[in-house]
Amino acid sequence: MATVIQHRRDFEVDYGNVDELSPLIRRVECRNPGPFTFKGTGTYLIGRGEVAVIDPGPVVDVHLEAVLGALGPDETITHIVITHTHSDHSPGAAWLKERTGAQTYGFGPHGQVGPNDPNDKVDFSAYFSSEEKERYDKEYEDLDPALKREGPDLTFVPDNKLDDNDELAAGDGNWRLQAVYTPGHCSNHICYALPQEGVLFTGDHVMGWATSVVGPPDGSMADYLASLRKLLGRDDRRYWPTHGPCVDDPIAYVQSFLDHRTEREAQILGFFTEKPATIADLVPGLYAAYDKRLWYPAAGSVYAHVLSMVADGRLAVDGGGDPKLTSTYRAG
Ligand SMILES: [Zn+2]
Repeated sequence: MATVIQHRRDFEVDYGNVDELSPLIRRVECRNPGPFTFKGTGTYLIGRGEVAVIDPGPVVDVHLEAVLGALGPDETITHIVITHTHSDHSPGAAWLKERTGAQTYGFGPHGQVGPNDPNDKVDFSAYFSSEEKERYDKEYEDLDPALKREGPDLTFVPDNKLDDNDELAAGDGNWRLQAVYTPGHCSNHICYALPQEGVLFTGDHVMGWATSVVGPPDGSMADYLASLRKLLGRDDRRYWPTHGPCVDDPIAYVQSFLDHRTEREAQILGFFTEKPATIADLVPGLYAAYDKRLWYPAAGSVYAHVLSMVADGRLAVDGGGDPKLTSTYRAG
């Protein structure tokens, strides 16, 4: 029987409001909703007194003002911490650093960006009815379209590079965070543990509302699966992702993601074993139940699976050559 992942979509947000989630955790939601960001970017404030901010989000003045406005009179932001360099997570770091003087932290700058080959693109526009196109165009019409996307942020370079297990702490000792290196969604993704509360901030690695997108060349399916397995060895009580609600049964949830990926891989292998075909042939059937706008990143995730199966010889490019997004694949 197919694995059912228990996503949670019941999530009310009050943009700009400060949600007090626990003694050490506050969250402010940025109004950048969209098919990839769900209701928007959740920016976390960690600690009381000396405060760390996790993922300031995009540069949206009203949001970043609300993050500053969350501070009490005796509080200061001393650390700006980034889970990964995507446009809905890291660009606000520069804005916040300028106002606070806080140091920035992350694994490093963005990794490999693919060749922007206009001939190596999938196109699903023929599957969208005119009614759907109109509806999607009208959704959050007032928002800058760039805010609804999740693309690479090539500008962020952390003042301080973090590696797996590195620790950060407030100067006044009120909080400490531990880096958990979790590449896959992208190559520089870090989750942050707050051991005092048994909580893990999972960025886009594990989200409550949807599965994570793994987009080559910077994203890697093998890394993503290894980073999911890494979480199985931890005893976090709760996850707070950057988008959507918390996850309260982390181990069972992560296991369902791993099972889901194993099934997807078998489906993909089965499809190309039947007859040589392209990823664009496969996606509309495999993702029929999803918002069609997600077919584009889904094609990226399928491509990530395909690359790992080309690497181990289970799939091959029909006619030879390098495996591309638009190549025709057959069983190896
Ligand atoms: Zn994101």
